[in-house]
Amino acid sequence: SRASLDVSQIAFTSDKQKHAVDALVREFDISPQLLQDIKKNFMAGMQKGLKKDGETLAMITSYVVGRLDGSETGSYLALDVGGTNLRVVSVHLAGGGEIITRQTKYRIDEKLKIGEAKALFDFMAVCVDSFLDEHQIAVRGDTQIELGFTFSFPVLQTSINRGTLISWTKGFNAAGMVGKDPVAYLQDAFNRRHIPVRVAALVNDTVGTLLAHAYHNPETVMGVILGTGCNGAYIERIDNIKKWKGDASAKEMIINMEFGAFDKEREILPLTMFDNKMDRKSVNPNKQIFEKMIAGMYLGEITRNVLLNLIDRRLLFEGGISPDINQMWTFETAYMSTIEADASPHLHATRKILESTLSFPATTMNDRQIVKLVVELVGKRAARLSAAAVAGILEHTGAWHQKAAIGIDGSLFEYYPSFDTDIMDGLVEVFGQDIRNNISIGLAQDGSGVGAALCALLAAKHATP
Ligand code: BGC
Ligand code: MG
Repeated sequence: SRASLDVSQIAFTSDKQKHAVDALVREFDISPQLLQDIKKNFMAGMQKGLKKDGETLAMITSYVVGRLDGSETGSYLALDVGGTNLRVVSVHLAGGGEIITRQTKYRIDEKLKIGEAKALFDFMAVCVDSFLDEHQIAVRGDTQIELGFTFSFPVLQTSINRGTLISWTKGFNAAGMVGKDPVAYLQDAFNRRHIPVRVAALVNDTVGTLLAHAYHNPETVMGVILGTGCNGAYIERIDNIKKWKGDASAKEMIINMEFGAFDKEREILPLTMFDNKMDRKSVNPNKQIFEKMIAGMYLGEITRNVLLNLIDRRLLFEGGISPDINQMWTFETAYMSTIEADASPHLHATRKILESTLSFPATTMNDRQIVKLVVELVGKRAARLSAAAVAGILEHTGAWHQKAAIGIDGSLFEYYPSFDTDIMDGLVEVFGQDIRNNISIGLAQDGSGVGAALCALLAAKHATP
């Protein structure tokens, strides 16, 4: 868990240093009033997105209808693309809530992420092919293996296994894909290699997370990812989805919100110069602003920008230099987790990261305390902004005063100290009452693998022409 520092615990070396730190504390604070305002703005964005396509919150209809009860059985393959690693997973749903999975991770070369789309999809097919070999999965005759494709980017779906890419996120930028169907690219790559796999479902990781959590907790209303990127999905009533022109016989459908794009207009989020600098230098400037204040890919970089600013003003490290920290993305979000958790009296773990990993010369206690405080400001703000989004969904659906479960997956949620308690505290604050007895927040296990399999299963069960 987190070992929080108080500004009053820091022995400042000068008034100038104290003023600079106080200013940062104010800049990164999400006051109770601001939390409410962000939630309200977020809910208005949800309404807009449910009315028509092309709004800031895309509110994508997932074509996933029907709920699960854990009795489902079958064997599927899942391909998970959109996080740090590419994963192939074989999922066996044994019934009675039992699931057996086997998986292999593959590293996606940075060059593939920003190269030709065809090369990226060919790589995916090759990974699936080698997985089938490795696990000796074979098919008889003309049968095909059904695959759930977790492709965690904004894709405007036109059916359970069709859609068009709205934009790339999270450092991906393969050429010529926007407006194209990722399933068509993947299926084509399989077919050219005679790999007997059929892409049965196209799944966002948030939708997969919701389904995977629901398999064990039928009260699940929401799936959230707090990892490399961030986003949420929830169960919406069909008659609330004003833009829906499809089959109206279903009562509800999972909506992939794409909430990382929230506040593209910059109306409400308290963006600092440190956020703006990171955004400007990213591969997708001006996009995914909310995601960039929350998700694991970006928090370290924001922190680095704050530290550089203090260093340049000669308020930190007394002119001590680390060539490493001059490079973008070198301050990893994983370091933040370690620094947050550092409870040693001399901040030993923090020192190790600064001096051994980032090769700063000897640091003082004052240096380490300020670094720790900056980390805490950035991390706490991310958790409170996540809470604003979750609260918005809970209020929109009315689920906040019912019994409801929220499944969250992603490295940030799993490893960042106290992220879960910070979110829960934010919810209690927003709703002005202790909702801990009604609302549960739990780590959803492998939403992208198991969830994709469940989605492929639902696709077959609820197939509509
Ligand atoms: C993508 C979402 C995804 C989220 C979490 C975002 O960048 O746009 O589709 O759910 O990351 O992986
Ligand atoms: Mg993932």
